[in-house]
This record gives sequence, C-alpha cells and structure tokens, in this order.
Amino acid sequence: TVSNVDLLSRRSAAVPAGVATGLPLFVSRAENAEIWDEDGRRYVDFAGGIAVLNVGHRHPRVMAAVREQLAAYTHVAFQVTAYRPYVELAERLNALAPFSGEARTLLLTTGAEAVENAVKIARAATGRQGVIAFTGGFHGRTALTMALTGKVVPYKRGFGMPTPGVYHLPFPVPHQGVEVADTLRALTYLFAADLSPEDVAAIIIEPVQGEGGFHAAPTELLQELRRLCDAHGILLIADEVQTGFARTGRMFGIEHSGVEPDLMTVAKSMAGGLPLSGVIGRAAIMDRVEPGGLGGTYGGSPIACAAALAVLDVIAEEGLLDRADAIGRRAKDRLTAMSARSDLLPIGNIRGLGAMIAFDIMEQRGGSAVAVNGAKAVTMRAADEGLILLACGTSGETIRILVPLTASDAVLDEGLAAIERALAA
Ligand code: PMP
Repeated sequence: TVSNVDLLSRRSAAVPAGVATGLPLFVSRAENAEIWDEDGRRYVDFAGGIAVLNVGHRHPRVMAAVREQLAAYTHVAFQVTAYRPYVELAERLNALAPFSGEARTLLLTTGAEAVENAVKIARAATGRQGVIAFTGGFHGRTALTMALTGKVVPYKRGFGMPTPGVYHLPFPVPHQGVEVADTLRALTYLFAADLSPEDVAAIIIEPVQGEGGFHAAPTELLQELRRLCDAHGILLIADEVQTGFARTGRMFGIEHSGVEPDLMTVAKSMAGGLPLSGVIGRAAIMDRVEPGGLGGTYGGSPIACAAALAVLDVIAEEGLLDRADAIGRRAKDRLTAMSARSDLLPIGNIRGLGAMIAFDIMEQRGGSAVAVNGAKAVTMRAADEGLILLACGTSGETIRILVPLTASDAVLDEGLAAIERALAA
C-alpha cells in the first residue's frame, strides 16, 4: 500500500531538489476546503493550492462545466480554430476590467506567462524596453519574470544575469521602515542616475504583494505611479495573479485604490484549479502586437475556459466578494485575540485586504522585530494539527491565509483553532 513515507522517498529519488515541497504529505483527495492524504488523514486547507482555489477544490459548478467541455472537445489550439469558451471568457473579463474604455483579453496558461506577455505587449506598444518592478515582488520563475521578481534567493541565485532593462524600487512596508516617500525618492534617483523615463515601457506592481508577505500597495503610491505613468507615457501593469477573483473582497485588488491600470495579469483562482492565465488590457495597447506575436499551443485551453466561466458565475451567485470580507474579519478577530495571549508564540502585524490575511511571527510579544524564518516551524506544526498552512515574506517571517472563500465558518474556525494549537509552543 502507498503511504506518505514511501512516496516521500520515491519523490526525492525521482524529482529534482530544486522543486521544493513545503509539507511532507501526499494528497489523495480534496473537496472544497478539505484535503485527505495518502494515509487517510484529513486536513483543513488554508493554502488553496497557493491562491488558486477561491471557489474551493472541485466546486460542483466547475466540475460540471469541465465535464461538459470534456464531452465536446479538449484541445484544438485557438491559433488553428477558434472556440466559444475563449471568446465568452474574454468578453466577460473585458466587462469586469477595472478601467474605462474598450478592453481585450489574451488567454495563456501560467501566471509567469501572463506577466511575460504583459511586458512584451507593453514593449511593443511603447517601443521602449525598460520595466520598473519592486523589491519583494514576485512575478514568476521564467527568464523575464525572474528578472522582475524582487528577491534573489532562491529565485535568481545561480541562474545567470537577469534580463536587462529591469529595475527595482523599494516596496513600501511601513512596519519594516520603508515609506511611500522612500519609494518615490528611489524613483527620482533612478530617473536621475540610470534611466530616462522616456525609455520605460511599464511599471509592474502587485496591488497586494503575495509571496513578498501580503503587503498592500498604499493607495497614495498607486495614485502617484498612475500620475507618473501618464506624465511619461509609461504603462501601468497590475499583477493580479494572486489578488484576483474576489480574494481581497473585490474582483481585483487594484479596485481598492480606484486607480486604473493599463494592463492586468490574471491566473490562479481564475479557473478554479485548472491551469489558465490572461492579460486584460486597454484595446488600443493590446491591439498593437501584430498577428502571430501572441499565443501559445495551450493558451486559453477550452477546458480551463469552461472552468473559468463557471468560477465567475460562482463568485457572483455565492456572493464571494462579501464572503471574503466576512472571512477576513472573522480571522483577524481570532488572530488579534491570539496575539494577546502570553501562552502562545508571539504574533503581530496582523493585516490583509478581504480574505488575503497574514501575520508575522515576532521575536517578542509587543516588539517590532520579526522572527526571521519563524513561519516555517509554525506551518510544520499546523500540519501536525491538521491544517495546510503557507508561509511567505522576504525573511520567511509571515503566515498567510488563503482559505477557499466557499469554506464554511465551521471549517474556517477549525483551521484557526489549529493555528492556535500550532502557536502553543
Ligand atoms: N505573479 C504573482 C503575483 C504570483 O503570486 C505568481 C505565483 N505565485 C506569479 C505571478 C507566477 O505565477 P505562476 O506560478 O502560475 O507562473
């Protein structure tokens, strides 16, 4: 019989060490916000496949849409013969795009591919090369997105010189001592010392940094970036791969600021567990690339498009924008109570928009120093307590909660109780 332990040794013999797995268990089955491993043990899932399962594992509507599509055709390649689910999805995403005017949507497969394409489109539309990104940002692991990602270890070290033309500004995180004024000063230095604004195609920013630690981009920064982009003919790209599709209590994270991006990248929760990504952008920009310049064999897979159409229905019909806010409030209240308890590991910096919630493991209760790499041990203990939990943050100090928005209060509370037990050192 298979067991987690047997499979773990087979895994290390068969799979390279570079692809790391956080927890020592193998999944056999998953349903909404629950996972069962190969040993038959049940877990509450607060990871959601890294922000992919806002509508939960195997949502019945998504499964039905996928089955219906499987019965018709699975693949033809949109570049060869078009199909309705791609066009319908593009129409619905264009209608949801948080900017005025006509929109177009390009469908792809992974988040990194969406980011690559957004930058290619921005370069083609502006005729410029430069891209400005942020420290702590995460945009993927392919060559160009690796350059955009604002963290050297483990994403860049050993992988050669990054693609030229990419520059990083400090991302403001006030509780880490970096304010919006610091970011804007660094931009002034960049434009004075290294790069003319006329050579910049795009600025790319996550409305809430995901891998970097669930830090929301301050509205005043987004507004100032918008102003600078308008002044210099630069395009603003919102990377909504982790923030999109109701996670923050809005369909897209940037909506909290009221700032309109020119291009947006989407993936993860878009297709409820199937691989799908996209670039949504202003028509005048998107249409600047010549025919054949964009696409990919599997881009906008009909099965994934069918799933995504169902996801959009589920978000609307189950009121998941409001549900995200309710989950956020419930989790933050409980975490705040935990932060006051002297019998638990000290936690602080409880934060989040909607249900994109995080907290840090601290050196001392009430202090401001975070426990570097403190989150890993908590996620390991949480697994012992029956909870799949993810760390993040540039120093491994942060625990993030990405519970499906379809989770019941009972399952949510069960997961929060497991966090409490994991913190009982
Ligand atoms: N952008 C953001 C904001 C992400 O969080 C991620 C994945 N964590 C990516 C891009 C890359 O997506 P993928 O892993 O699907 O390539």
